[in-house]
Amino acid sequence: MSELVIQNLHINIGGKEIVKGLNLTIRQGEVHAIMGPNGTGKSTLAYTLMGHPAYEVTAGTVIFKERNILDMTADERSRLGIFLAFQYPVAIPGVTVANFLRTALNARRRAVNPEDKGISIPEFRKLLKKEMDILRMDHAFAGRYLNDGFSGGEKKRAEILQMATLKPEIAILDETDSGLDIDALRIVSEGVNTLSGGDVGVLLITHYQRILNYIKPDFVHVIMGGKIVESGGPDLALHLEERGYEWIREKYENGITV
Ligand code: ADP
Ligand code: MG
Repeated sequence: MSELVIQNLHINIGGKEIVKGLNLTIRQGEVHAIMGPNGTGKSTLAYTLMGHPAYEVTAGTVIFKERNILDMTADERSRLGIFLAFQYPVAIPGVTVANFLRTALNARRRAVNPEDKGISIPEFRKLLKKEMDILRMDHAFAGRYLNDGFSGGEKKRAEILQMATLKPEIAILDETDSGLDIDALRIVSEGVNTLSGGDVGVLLITHYQRILNYIKPDFVHVIMGGKIVESGGPDLALHLEERGYEWIREKYENGITV
């Protein structure tokens, strides 16, 4: 069993400290939701875990498979089994969804087994169709340029399709619910539920409780001021839905943190 262990993580962006001593352990098979007001460092945490070079780690460690992944590049982390679904996926005109996914999948397979010759095109097509059917995506989607002219909902589905194809061991989903209507939210959530459980650990970042009606977290954490200030079970999310974040802010500002 692999687990992702974040210890005392401090992150600066543009010379300002945004994440200020964050601790979190995600075991495979667990779903952790991180909730918090806008601008509290949720995406900063996600980008840093994936290795975005703009985010400067000033202290702390992130251990996965006995390695401090903070010393690794983003593609090394990806090959190790860490995946990030972006809040704002970028378009790559000229690269089709199918080509992108096959290249990424082959890189991941070779990281596991250097002798791997790569997946054959017919085998890959079969796999892709199967995953697209689960996400109820038109097969023509595979031939389109990645995220180029995709609607908000299509971009999010494309992210989950990547997750389905790459089969990561730790999946970080940054506001995968934003911009989705209720039907798309249900389909995307079903996709995530199909992929999670088993041996995948999920870090689900969200501002709203809504997605947690479809993806049931084992643990819910609230991030505020760059730290986890409250942790609990799924009922914590319902509590936030009813009472907002203010009660936690008051508690936190009075110096009572957990
Ligand atoms: P969240 O995802 O919780 O809404 P972010 O992690 O995106 O919050 O942002 C946390 C803080 O860091 C915000 O105050 C934001 O303005 C700042 N920030 C994020 N990215 C950058 C950047 N590239 N340069 C400067 N400040 C940034
Ligand atoms: Mg964000």
